[in-house]
Amino acid sequence: MSETKPRYKKILLKMSGEVLMGDSLFGIDTKTIEAVAEDIKEVVDHGIELCLVIGGGNIFRGVSLAGKGMDRANADYMGMLATVMNALALQGALEKIGVYTRVQSAIPMEAVCEPYIRRRALRHLEKGRVVIFAAGLGAPFFTTDTPAALRTAEMGCDALFKGTSVDGVYTADPKKDPSAQRYETLSYQEVLAKDLRVMDASAIALMRDNQIPIVVFSIRERGNFFKVLKGQGVFTTIA
Ligand code: UDP
Repeated sequence: MSETKPRYKKILLKMSGEVLMGDSLFGIDTKTIEAVAEDIKEVVDHGIELCLVIGGGNIFRGVSLAGKGMDRANADYMGMLATVMNALALQGALEKIGVYTRVQSAIPMEAVCEPYIRRRALRHLEKGRVVIFAAGLGAPFFTTDTPAALRTAEMGCDALFKGTSVDGVYTADPKKDPSAQRYETLSYQEVLAKDLRVMDASAIALMRDNQIPIVVFSIRERGNFFKVLKGQGVFTTIA
């Protein structure tokens, strides 16, 4: 029997910056971000307390710039600033359709958004505002996976949702290997031992240590976010 009620009350959605590109190769596609915002609104309208973390890979990824000779830490700071741009873009798209939001950055920039203050973020959530966490941990040599896991734990979320372009975790890359099989469920340990690269190992370990499930699903399919939250459709749960 399919469930009709959301499985979780308070969650964090982590999306890669690439989700905002649509079919483009770089940057932000306004139509795509509007569609993602509608999916987020559907979840918020059902009373779910929602945090968001968005990557910066559609603009800058420190590791690829470092590969071309740039100082790694500097390149990572650029990547963190890219996540702030995405957060502001998402904030704009959400507020346009009546979703109240706050952006909190791990790198303080008062003129643009709030600094990260845990207790203030919790208060925003209680008031029904979506909190978008930007600039990762504010420290280089990380991606946005670990900050997403950290904020999930800090905010007391029931689950970490990872919205990707694939509808779950597979035995191999389904875009390259047609025989790849999707896992329904996985343990944290299996993900780490099989090196499935769902998220950075530090993020998986943090969720394991705090016993918070990770739900991997496709954010590209419209309406899928709320569906998966109700336990319907296709996804992989790591617990
Ligand atoms: N980044 C960082 N520290 C953090 C979070 C992010 O240095 O705590 C930098 C890093 O260079 C990373 C970039 O920001 O590559 C963008 O984040 P990410 O790669 O996670 O973006 P995504 O692949 O999710 O779009």
